[in-house]
This record gives sequence, structure tokens and C-alpha cells, in this order.
Amino acid sequence: MALVAGVDVSTDHYVNGRRLASAVTFEDRSPLDGSLLANVSRGDAATADAAIGAAATAFPSWAALGPADRAVYLRRLADLIDANVERIAAVECVDMAMLHESLRLRVIARGARNFRAYADLAAAYVERAWESNGTRNRVVRMPAGPAVVITPWNAPFMLSTWKCAPALAAGCTVVLKPAEWSPLSCSLLADLAEEAGLPPGVFNVVQGIGEEVGAALVSDPRVRRVSFTGSPATARQIGVAAARNLVPFTAELGGKNPLIVFADADLDAAARKAAGQYDDSGQVCLSGTRLLVEASVRERFLERFHHHTDQHVLGDSRDPETTISPLIHPDHLAHVAGFVERARAAGDEVVRGGRVWREGGLWYEPTLIFPRSNDAEIVQNEVFGPVLTFQTFRDETEAIDLANSTRYGLSGIVYTGSEERANRVGRAVRAGTVWANCFLIRDLTAPFGGIGISGLGREGGDYALDFCSDLKTLQILDGSTT
Ligand code: ADP
Repeated sequence: MALVAGVDVSTDHYVNGRRLASAVTFEDRSPLDGSLLANVSRGDAATADAAIGAAATAFPSWAALGPADRAVYLRRLADLIDANVERIAAVECVDMAMLHESLRLRVIARGARNFRAYADLAAAYVERAWESNGTRNRVVRMPAGPAVVITPWNAPFMLSTWKCAPALAAGCTVVLKPAEWSPLSCSLLADLAEEAGLPPGVFNVVQGIGEEVGAALVSDPRVRRVSFTGSPATARQIGVAAARNLVPFTAELGGKNPLIVFADADLDAAARKAAGQYDDSGQVCLSGTRLLVEASVRERFLERFHHHTDQHVLGDSRDPETTISPLIHPDHLAHVAGFVERARAAGDEVVRGGRVWREGGLWYEPTLIFPRSNDAEIVQNEVFGPVLTFQTFRDETEAIDLANSTRYGLSGIVYTGSEERANRVGRAVRAGTVWANCFLIRDLTAPFGGIGISGLGREGGDYALDFCSDLKTLQILDGSTT
């Protein structure tokens, strides 16, 4: 147990309805000041075996419950998340350094929404039914089996609930492995699952290092689904492990998302949104990090952009005035700084920022780069920090070509005064989600995922419930029964 931001957090795994400690631990430090928050149990192959075993044993009765009965548990869990928003936000704010205000007002509450949405959706499923060739046909969802959910260090609570909720609602049992850089808020989720009365083994949390316990979990042949959010490199390894057992997996990976601004747009709104891409220190896969602006409004846009970026306040994530908090880890700071140093050395122009904010801290200044060409590394690869590039285009065709010129395809943002153009460009941009004149508005029933190295498969709504199910066609010969 550790006392973190005044909250008692278990540092152990949660397996089969019980806390389980490992003899070996890993250190979890706060990005705010490097202080040691907890020594967390470091799972190994035996931990993975115990957790998957518990999930496999619990599966038949959880699957047999049916969506409406499972929904009762999930709604209870949602209510408990709502009742514990302050505690979860306090812990994640020092563990991951996301802004306390965002956590408290939006991000943690979204965890509750995830469970409620999937409780409702799974229970509302209407089997497709039709007659053909003299048979009555139905499409039946069968719960797939134990699912492994592997989540990243940014927004750990929200992203974990986003993946665990559909799996549990669909009748899968779950083993969740949170990221080792921000493991604590998911430990609280285990407490709440227990309080909500989820039967032992239905929901398990295993802590530890990806290459160790994570790799053991995804290679276990009893696992029937793997749901992953993280980097393309890890996705490839997990994909190979899942393929060995012929297990379907979804992967939500990074982005190098375009934010396209046409001359007919509300330039101030577009520039404000562009400056907003520095929020969470750019540690957001959906961020629009490539600013593509119509050449005729270059100067006007940049003036507004700098104005809005100047309003950012770097500081402690617990302070309501702060808009940019530190990066997650010293290694990640080095990763972000390395991108900018290489860009500078290669001849890209660093227009603002480009350095660590306070020596010894993990803040990196909001950075804008004019790349020397579209092939530059800083344009083509995800930085996952407060670093944006700026390029101009002459017409719609060039804007679309630039937007589609990376291997990624997670999201796109378009600012234009013309709805017709929003529709045209929105369709032409190769990405799983495109927002026009807005950003991050989410309908949980919509499909969500990436193209290219941004991901595989779709989460969201019925897409996630179908992924967590085996779809069966049931055909009964008409008139064959009395
Ligand atoms: P990031 O670059 O965001 O840290 P990673 O892909 O390294 O992303 O990590 C995302 C999640 O994947 C983390 O929970 C991490 O522990 C886990 N992970 C890393 N390597 C593996 C692996 N070989 N097998 C399973 N999980 C892994």
C-alpha cells in the first residue's frame, strides 16, 4: 500500500478478487518532482499465468449471465467511479501529471461514461434476424473468452476503461496491464470493481514491465482477445504473439495528425485550437501536430497562433492556472528533445521553444518548427510532446496531399468556413476520425481507430462489442419445429 496524494493505493496486482504481491518491485516516480510515489509489484510469467487462469475460470459464468445482467455490475462500477472522481484524479495528477482540472472535470468522468455506454449498448443489441432459403437466420454474439488489455501511460484510467468496458459488457473476462510509468489509477479501478461486486476473476489487474509480464500475458494460449494502445513497435511484437495463437487483436497507435486551416476559416478559432495542441504537453495520440495553413493567410494565422501560445502557463499539474504540465519521464523528455535537436541539426528552423523549461524539471517549452521539407523526420514521425510543425499549401489538392503524406492516419482536423469543403476534405483525409471546425468531440458509439501505422481494427460502440464477441450465424429450417 502507498499513500499517494492523500489516497491509499494498493501497489499489488489484483487477481481472482484478491491482492497479490510480487517479491520484486519497480519504482514509480512522479513527473512533477521525481519523488518516489510507490514501489509497485513487478509481475512475471507466474503472475500472468495466475491472472489468465483466474480470468479463464471466471469466464463461463460471466459469459452465461447475458448483457442485461452484466450491465447491472457495470452501471454500479460507473456510479462508483463518479463517486471517486476526486480520489482518482488526485492520484493520476501526480502519477502521470495530467492537469488536475481536466482529470476532475472530464477525463475520469469519461471512465464512468465508458462503462455506462457499453452497459447500455450491449444490453440493447438486437440480433439481426431474417429469412432466406427456407431458414430463419439470426446473428448471435458469443462472448469471446478471456481478454488481455494493455494500456499506455497517457490518460491511463480513461484509456483502460475505454477498452475494459466493451470487453466486460460483451461477456469477456479481463486482465488489464497498465503502463509501468503511471500504474496507480488502474489499481484504484480494481478496488472499485471489487466494491461493485464483480465476481472474482472477472476483472484482474497485473502490474509490471511490458517486455516481462505484458509479453507473458499476450502469448498465453488461453487468451481469446488482445486489445492494445501504445506504440507501433510494441504493436508489432504483440501482433506476432497474438498471431501465434490466432487471436484477434486491436491496436490503437500513434498519430502525426494534420490540422488544416483554409483561408476562409475563422482564423482566430483555428489558431486557438492549434495552440491547444500543446495541452497535456502534446502527449495525446489525437493531437494535430502538423499545422498546414493556406499560404495566403500565413502571417495572420501565425500572429494569432503565437498570441494564443503565449497564454500557456507551464507549471504544476495540481495548480488550476497551469495549462502545460511536465512530460511523463526523463527518458521521454530525452526522446522529445532528441527530435528537436536532430531537426535543428538537419536545418529545420526552430521558431519558438526548442528547449527544456526549467533545468532539472521535465517540462519542455511549446515548440514550433518550420521544416525544411515534407520529408523531414520531424514531419514524418510522431514526437508525442509539445512540438508542432508548420507548413503552407496553395490549394485544396496540395493540402490533402500533405495531410496524407505520412505513414500514420489516426485523426485529422480541418478548419474552413465552407461546409461543402469540410465534407470534401474530410472525406479525402486518410484517417480514422476527422473533425471539422472542432476537436475531440466524442460520440462513444462511433468507430474509433487508425489507418496505416496508426492502428488496426476499430474500437467504439458496436465495433468494440463485435470485436469482443464471436459472431455466430444460427439457421433454423422453417417449419422444422412445432
Ligand atoms: P509508449 O511508447 O507509449 O511507452 P509502449 O508501446 O512501449 O508505448 O507501451 C504501451 C504498453 O505496452 C505499456 O503498458 C507497456 O508496458 C506495454 N508493453 C511494452 N512492450 C510490451 C510487450 N512486448 N508485450 C506486451 N506489452 C508490452
